[in-house]
Amino acid sequence: MEQKTVNCYCPVCKHRTHHEVLGVGNNVSPDEEYFYNETYRVVKCCGCDHVSFDLEVVEEGNVEYDQEGYETLVPVHTSYPVKENSVEPISSWEMPSLIQRAYKESVEALNNGSFLLASIGFRATVEALCIENGLDKGTLNTKINKLRDKGIITAADCERLHEARFMGNESAHQIEKPDRQHVLIVLEVINNILNNLYVIDKKFKDVIEYRFKDYAEFQALIEKGIDEHPKGAEGTIYMFLPEERKYRKTDLDKYEAELQQHIADGTFTKLSVLPKPKDSKYRQGYRVE
Ligand SMILES: [Zn+2]
Repeated sequence: MEQKTVNCYCPVCKHRTHHEVLGVGNNVSPDEEYFYNETYRVVKCCGCDHVSFDLEVVEEGNVEYDQEGYETLVPVHTSYPVKENSVEPISSWEMPSLIQRAYKESVEALNNGSFLLASIGFRATVEALCIENGLDKGTLNTKINKLRDKGIITAADCERLHEARFMGNESAHQIEKPDRQHVLIVLEVINNILNNLYVIDKKFKDVIEYRFKDYAEFQALIEKGIDEHPKGAEGTIYMFLPEERKYRKTDLDKYEAELQQHIADGTFTKLSVLPKPKDSKYRQGYRVE
């Protein structure tokens, strides 16, 4: 008689739980030479109701001996689509797609037990990080040092990355399979960097208001923003400021008034002021000249 419940991994509860068996199918070895029995089950977690797949394999080659010396077959469970002990990649909209693709595929390779591909992929992730930061020439070794010199990564992360790089090198050249533990350490280094760059920084900018040092800094930012737009482009002051930051309205009003003064007396000519109805509650519009 088929089992009504089975103990297997639940990706939602993140540990082994009792599962109700919803459906079952078997593959049994066709001859007497080698015994195996594969049982595929559609299962539902008794804790959280999540439905997944469990494969149980019992085979001749996988035995243990009890105290009396009798052989017992040990069933091995594999869950689908999320395997037990799988790691979750960091996800952030802020992460550039080039980095994201290399990183996510590497984590996927790691979760599928393809450690060689994972380590080569993590090396590619670091390469992508360099490219995103304008570093596309020279060896990876020098590029990693430049990431540190530019203040993009810390000195400690730089050292750790050098370790990761060598691992990637060895993987590609010697085709020696790195072990899971080793790849997990590399992942931790990369997660730390990506977290700092694309997760924490984003949260910080969302919460903390940006303060301009003085009018000069405000104008320099505006000029940089104007360069990113074609002549004739129209918009409010926000169009010319880095959009990921939060600004204090009183500061913005003060410096914008000063900018309008400079436009009026002809000392700032990169923008012109668009006509605006009196008492309009909307912000002033500008045109790139
Ligand atoms: Zn569950």
